[in-house]
Amino acid sequence: MLSRRKIWRNSSGVLHALRSLLELVFPPVCALCGDDVSGSQEGASGDFLWKGWAICGECLKEVNWLRPPFCPRCAMPMKSGVVSSHLCGDCLASPPPFSSARALLVYGDEVFPLLHKMKYGPEASLARFMGVLLARHFLWQIRDLGIERVVPIPLHKKRLVERGFNQAALMARPIARALEIPLELRCLVKVRPTSPQVGLKRSERVANLKGAFAVTEKARISGKRLLLVDDVYTTGTTLSEASRCLLKAGAKEVHVITFARVS
Ligand SMILES: [Zn+2]
Ligand SMILES: [Zn+2]
Repeated sequence: MLSRRKIWRNSSGVLHALRSLLELVFPPVCALCGDDVSGSQEGASGDFLWKGWAICGECLKEVNWLRPPFCPRCAMPMKSGVVSSHLCGDCLASPPPFSSARALLVYGDEVFPLLHKMKYGPEASLARFMGVLLARHFLWQIRDLGIERVVPIPLHKKRLVERGFNQAALMARPIARALEIPLELRCLVKVRPTSPQVGLKRSERVANLKGAFAVTEKARISGKRLLLVDDVYTTGTTLSEASRCLLKAGAKEVHVITFARVS
């Protein structure tokens, strides 16, 4: 009979061979700097490796991870020394409709090429990679929230045809799969196209999004705790408006997760 150690050694050898084979089929490229990381020890961290995409060792050191302290409600990074349970000034003045927000990274120059390539490449597999990273890093936190449905921020039909995919939906799929809960792709819809939010004042952003979302199948989310997924949390206007719409339709709670958070 094989000892447990021997079985482990054998299976890790098989895993290594499988990974080498996978790297041969999909040579991993760093999603941030574009470097080929196949075979490099630095880029070989399994946590940041998935089907041809990786984050290399150098970039792992460079990126600004969203670490405490941050506002537990909107994930706004806070000055060190602040207790993590404290809400930020914005949330104290006017709390958002969602119960909590989390993000993997603080938005910065090093993240911009990745998001740009994903959206305007357009590179659908990169959006899936981002979703895999979120699922790997937040699985237990999301489980603890008792999430029952995953809902991506929808694109308007026109934009969907232009890009060919909804990045938030692709990011949401690996999360729903890891949680083994339903992914709601047709429940929240964008019923009206909106102009880009960039450069608009707060009141203009709110007006721009007013009535932009609708819930088509209320029964699917009624009384449920939802996880709302998007690529970037910028001002929170889109996520707030979508949350409001879901809560109005009967959702019990809405929690937000994004890949990056603008500070
Ligand atoms: Zn890199
Ligand atoms: Zn806040």
